[in-house]
Amino acid sequence: MTVSMLLILFLYGLIFGSFFNVVGLRVPNKTLFKQKRSYCDTCERTLTWSELIPVWSFIAQKGKCKECKSKISLLYPTMELATGFLFVFTYYITGFNADFIFALLLIAMIIPVTVSDIVYRRIPNRLLLFFSLLFVNYRLFYPLDPIWDSFIGAGFALVLVFLIILISKGGMGMGDLKYYTLFGFIFGLSHFLLLFFLSTLYGAIFGLIFAKIKKLGRKAKIPFGPFIGLSALTVFYFGDALIQWYLNLFL
Ligand SMILES: [Zn+2]
Repeated sequence: MTVSMLLILFLYGLIFGSFFNVVGLRVPNKTLFKQKRSYCDTCERTLTWSELIPVWSFIAQKGKCKECKSKISLLYPTMELATGFLFVFTYYITGFNADFIFALLLIAMIIPVTVSDIVYRRIPNRLLLFFSLLFVNYRLFYPLDPIWDSFIGAGFALVLVFLIILISKGGMGMGDLKYYTLFGFIFGLSHFLLLFFLSTLYGAIFGLIFAKIKKLGRKAKIPFGPFIGLSALTVFYFGDALIQWYLNLFL
């Protein structure tokens, strides 16, 4: 593991992160392949190449459009940096192997879903369907042990989250249900249980902080997709260790 390797992966992560932003912003509008170049949301001017440089363009322009001075969302450089960090961290944990490919698929799904859920409060079906096909194929080559754990995980997730939606009336949506179910399939039952627990924990912690800062009541709606995605990454990197630690408490 060389420093130059990590640096190259980080730069790739920034570039891919920039693309994942575009996917998350355009897939819900069905404009992913219709608009060729990136443009300013406010003045609709096509961006020059220097304005397309991930993170740097945001810093150089002090977070504003060069032309109309409208604010550029902090979400974009944040997601670019997150992707860069995740690429490096994944390589650090897994090296180059099947797990690395698996993590890239996870990141490529989670970042656009997070962007879409934050911006539009929606988890696009098209994204989930596209990545479901890729993950089913991945599991054909690298099945869980035992193989039916994928179906137990997905079935359990579907029933659990469906019941929660029925009982809570509006806390979680159908997008969350599908997203959780896909992760049940991907990770199997025990890791899904950990993922579900972590997502509610992250959501609760964020909800408390958010309520304090914004002085909003409990009714303020927070999109849940970002917490599901963050939990899936936690489970991928630390799931085995966390489950082992938990079991050791009782055995
Ligand atoms: Zn502009």
